[in-house]
Amino acid sequence: MASFAPSPADVADIGVTGMAVMGSNLARNLARHGYKVAIHNRSVGKTEKVIDSYGDEGQFFPSETMEDFVASLQKPRVAIIMVKAGGPTDAVIDELADLMDEGDIIVDAGNALFTDTRRREAALRERGLHFVGTGVSGGEEGALNGPSIMPGGTPESYKRLGPMLEDISAHVDGEPCCTHVGEDGAGHFVKMVHNGIEYADMQVISEAYDMMSKALGMDAAAIGDVFDQWNKGDLESFLIEITAGVLHHVDDRTGKPFVDIILDQAAQKGTGAWTVQTALDLGVPVTGIAEATFARSVSGGVAQREAARGVLPAEAETQAIDDPERFIDDLQKALYAAKLVSYSQGFDEIAKGAEEYGWNINLGDMAKIWRDGCIIRAKFLNRITEAYDRNPELPLLLADEYFTTEIAKCIPAWRRVVAYAAENGYPVPVFASTLSYYDAVRSERLPAALVQAQRDFFGAHTYQRVDGEGTFHVEWSEDRRESRQD
Ligand code: NAP
Repeated sequence: MASFAPSPADVADIGVTGMAVMGSNLARNLARHGYKVAIHNRSVGKTEKVIDSYGDEGQFFPSETMEDFVASLQKPRVAIIMVKAGGPTDAVIDELADLMDEGDIIVDAGNALFTDTRRREAALRERGLHFVGTGVSGGEEGALNGPSIMPGGTPESYKRLGPMLEDISAHVDGEPCCTHVGEDGAGHFVKMVHNGIEYADMQVISEAYDMMSKALGMDAAAIGDVFDQWNKGDLESFLIEITAGVLHHVDDRTGKPFVDIILDQAAQKGTGAWTVQTALDLGVPVTGIAEATFARSVSGGVAQREAARGVLPAEAETQAIDDPERFIDDLQKALYAAKLVSYSQGFDEIAKGAEEYGWNINLGDMAKIWRDGCIIRAKFLNRITEAYDRNPELPLLLADEYFTTEIAKCIPAWRRVVAYAAENGYPVPVFASTLSYYDAVRSERLPAALVQAQRDFFGAHTYQRVDGEGTFHVEWSEDRRESRQD
């Protein structure tokens, strides 16, 4: 390989440090778009591999040391970090910051918790540097060929960085799947919620598969055919498409359907849990995402499942399904309704996060930049953008006319699916929890009135009345007289 010493006469437009799969693919994507890309990795072997294997894809400026890497960047410098999340990211930020000058931009494109991004941004701002936490979705394939990109940070830094990121992002109808999300941690926040929605989407698809497999006794390939069919309608999306692909795949070793040879214990890397923890802190009910995250935990609770299997009574019905075609149609409608609720809940979380942290996030634009490149890319995201175009202050996505019309078509089927599952003993946590949420949010009156009364009884937490202003408390242990508290 050629010498790693940078040529003083020529400088790179942008740099990427961290040449594992994501960083190298992002660097190649930038180079393929005509940018001069400085590249660096802690261990030099990975940098050499990029040059040896892909050096002819564009103009790369490889460096062995962080000093040379920084020196090879055009000012104001832009350096993207794509290393292991957590401590390694902090270490690389420190190393870079020591070598950079005022106005330079450090980008963390890894998966970081938005509160870490806020902390890092504040620390680097003190030193006159821009720190841009950026969500990147689409896995390794997306990083190479066009991901969905969610950058936070200052508008000023976006002026320098944004055009390059927009260039390399996925595009739909000529529009980039990248926009400035908002200040400091906004980009990582939105990426986190994107992943939470992804959890709900994947789980509810799996629940539909489970019902077809168990209630109808269909084999994997036949269920795959159903998903192929669904991918031609409202449900058209990357996740439905890959589900069909997985279900049609046959295991080389056994000749069995691939899905049947996989251990039924799902992993989670943390972003689903972050979405739920953050939602709890913000007081946003993301029930679909939460149940999807817990469903993975249930599947991974091996000791609990062993203790329960064959011991816990089912006392369930075993109702035969007379009309399988109608049942499959019901599942499709239930899936669409549960999906609409999960997305509405995710957008609620983004809206509440924006309010809490002072981010000016355009919700319609978020749906727009998820239309391609990312895992939840789907046809129906246009409908979300249209809903926020109609009313940017929409307090609940589900209350938009498109959603009310679509859900109305799905409700009877959705109820039938949840009722059948409950009576016959099939777990459908996302189908059921999203329906419960739907019925709660549209209720004239909720049993929260009783909860408030209980709270006032044991903790003097007070209550408000339906017939006037004020805060009240009843002397429960004395004469039970009401007194005004404000
Ligand atoms: P990774 O396996 O998460 O990390 C490996 C890279 O981190 C290597 O370049 C490694 O350098 C470097 N590294 C580890 N510790 C370091 C330290 N203390 N100092 C400097 N460098 C260090 O790589 P990845 O899968 O490409 O992911 C990169 C980032 O993208 C992560 O934050 C990940 O969460 C995020 N992400 C990944 C995906 C995906 O599909 N994989 C999707 C979206 C986002 P050495 O080679 O020297 O060990």
